[in-house]
Amino acid sequence: MILDLSGVLSEQHTPVGDTVSCSMERIKVGGKFYPLRAKSDVHITVRQVEDHRLRITGTCRLTVDIPCDRCLTAVPVEFDLDFQREVESPAPGTVSEETDELDESNYIDGYHLDVDRLLYNEILVGWPMKVLCSESCKGICSICGQNLNEGACGCEDMGFDPRMSVIRDVFKNFKEV
Ligand SMILES: [Zn+2]
Ligand SMILES: [Zn+2]
Repeated sequence: MILDLSGVLSEQHTPVGDTVSCSMERIKVGGKFYPLRAKSDVHITVRQVEDHRLRITGTCRLTVDIPCDRCLTAVPVEFDLDFQREVESPAPGTVSEETDELDESNYIDGYHLDVDRLLYNEILVGWPMKVLCSESCKGICSICGQNLNEGACGCEDMGFDPRMSVIRDVFKNFKEV
């Protein structure tokens, strides 16, 4: 979603405020894609605060499915964004070069503010270091990949049983002597 900044960049510096929708369906972080499970409208305001500076404020609530660090089950993580950014206002008529770098103003291109890119930056800032489905998550079995929260897989028993039977045999042999 693109917000038109021509009002605030005009001679009158009329503040621009709007409620827009977030058009992202998923978010790419560290080379992986994460689906957006839910998203609210974005309330956004842009006003001139001093010469050549814009203040962008906005709120938005998003829910992203992030896999649990231990068992990989998708965990809905809520991002309750309430942000304020100040950026250099672009010189009239300039169009910035296309760039993938996440620098401060890569979401402003001439008279256009790319709301999705702005939100993306804010989500990255709040991205959690670690996500767990629960503090007591048991993770997955390193042998068969079974989610151990859903029940034991038996791999541990299989590793244990042969040794037990050897011991049983030893006892049996003693008995027979
Ligand atoms: Zn888990
Ligand atoms: Zn297993």
